[in-house]
Amino acid sequence: MPDLLLRNVRIVPISPRADAPAGIVDVLVVDGVVSAVGEGLSRPVGVEAYDAGGRWLVPGLWDAHTHLAQWTLGASRLDLRGTRSPAEALALVAAAARQVEPGEAIIGMGHSAGTWDRWGTVAELDSVTGGVPAILVNHDFHHAWLNTAALDAVELPRRDDMVEEMEWFEAYPRVAELFETTGSTPAAYRRMLTRTAALGVVGMTDFEVGVRLYDWRTRWEAGCDLLRIRVATYADQLDDPIAEGLCTGDPLLPGDDRLTMGPLKIISDGSLGTRTAWCCDPYADDPDSCGAPNQSPDELRGLLGKAYAAGLEVSTHAIGDRAVSEALAAYAETGARGRIEHAQLVRREDLQMMARLGITASVQPAHILDDREMTEGLWPGREDRCFATRWMLDAGVPIVLGSDAPVAPLDPWLAIAAAVGRSRDGRQPWHPEQALTVQEALVASVNGQPTVGVGSLGDLAVLDIDPLRASVADLAAIARGGVVLTTVGGRVVHRS
Ligand SMILES: [Zn+2]
Repeated sequence: MPDLLLRNVRIVPISPRADAPAGIVDVLVVDGVVSAVGEGLSRPVGVEAYDAGGRWLVPGLWDAHTHLAQWTLGASRLDLRGTRSPAEALALVAAAARQVEPGEAIIGMGHSAGTWDRWGTVAELDSVTGGVPAILVNHDFHHAWLNTAALDAVELPRRDDMVEEMEWFEAYPRVAELFETTGSTPAAYRRMLTRTAALGVVGMTDFEVGVRLYDWRTRWEAGCDLLRIRVATYADQLDDPIAEGLCTGDPLLPGDDRLTMGPLKIISDGSLGTRTAWCCDPYADDPDSCGAPNQSPDELRGLLGKAYAAGLEVSTHAIGDRAVSEALAAYAETGARGRIEHAQLVRREDLQMMARLGITASVQPAHILDDREMTEGLWPGREDRCFATRWMLDAGVPIVLGSDAPVAPLDPWLAIAAAVGRSRDGRQPWHPEQALTVQEALVASVNGQPTVGVGSLGDLAVLDIDPLRASVADLAAIARGGVVLTTVGGRVVHRS
C-alpha cells in the first residue's frame, strides 16, 4: 500500500469517548496504518500529500449487509428514465459505450419512447455503439431498441426499427443471458466498487447467495480489489472454508488483509412482506399464521455448533420476534458468536440476553422507511418494537448498520439518515423514541473505529461537512458529492 500524508483535516470524534485533537491537523498513513497525527507534519520523501483544506475526517464507512452480485447486476443497467428524445438517450448510450470493456453489452432501461417526438433507428444506435451490443428496453417492456450487434447476438433478423411484442418476448430470455453476463464481469464489479468508494465506503460484508470463495479470489485478482470485502458462506458451502481451515477474519489470499473470510449466514425465518417472518403473535390478516422457521431447532443448533467448532462467526437472519428469540437460545446453547441480521421485530426482554451473549444487531435502517405501512397493517400494536435501535443500545447490544442492497440502495448515508430521522417525504418520524443520534449511527457504521488516531487503519473518508452538526437532510445529501476523498489502507480509492 502506498503511504499518504493528509494535510489540514478536522478529525471528527465519532465515539463520545474518542479524544480527537480540536484544531486542524495533518495525518500520516504508513503501511496501511495511521502513524502520526499533528500540526505541520513533515512529508517523508516520496509520500503523496493531499490537502483537505480544513474538511472533516472520519473513519471509512462499512455496509454490514450486502448482496453484491445482485447489486452489481442492477447497477450495471444504463438508466434511461427521463430521456425526452432519441438524441438524449443516444447521448447516454454513447457515454456508456466509452466505458464498456470487451465482452460486455449495454443494457439500457426505463425510457418511455411513447413520449418522444419520434422513435430512434437502428442505424442511429449503431453510430454511437459500433460493435458493442446495445439493448434499450422500453419501460413498459413491450418493445426494445436493439443495435445491429445485439440483433446478431440474440439471432434476430436485422432491421432499422424496434423489436416489438411477441418477437421481443420470445427473444427476451436470450437478451437476459447477455445481461447476466454483462452484469457480473470484473469490469461491472470495478465500476460498482468505484461508485461505492465515492460514498466514503471502505468495506462491505457480501452475503450473496451461491457465491464461492473462489469467485471472489479470481475477481480480486482481476482488479476488483478496491474495498475491503468479507465473504460470507451459506450452509450448502460451509465445507469449503472448513476444508481450508479458514476462520472468520482470515485472509482469502495470502498477505492481503482486505479480502477476508466472513461469517456463516443462516436464514432462519422469512420476511414481513411474504408473511413468513416467524413471530410470537399471528399476522393481522391471518389469525392462523405466525410465520414459520426455516430450520428445526436441532438443525439450527447443528449449524451453529459446526460453525463455532470451525472458528466461524454466524450471521443469523431473523426478522420476527420469535425467530430472534429462538436464534438467541441457539447461540447460548452452542457457544456460537456473531450477529442477528435484521432483528426487525424484537421483544425487549430478549435484548438483555442478546447483550449478555455479545451478539451484534445488524440493522438496515432504510427498511424503516420502506416497511412502515406494511408493519402497521400486518403487525398492528407491535410497531413500537420494530427497528428498536434505542432499546438495543440501552440494553448494551452492539449495532452495525447496512443496506441489504439491492433491497435498499448501497448507501450508508441513507442508512444513517434513516436511523436518525426515521421518516421519508417530510412525514412525521416513525417511533422517534427509537431513533439513534447522528453520533450513534456513525459509530454503527465505521466497523468499530471510534475516530482517526495513531494506530487506526488508514481507512478514511474526508467529508465536505461536519456530520455531527448536519441535519438529517444534509446527512443524506453527503452521498451526492459530499465525500471528497476515500482511502483504504492509505491507498486513494476515490478523489473528487
Ligand atoms: Zn440480505
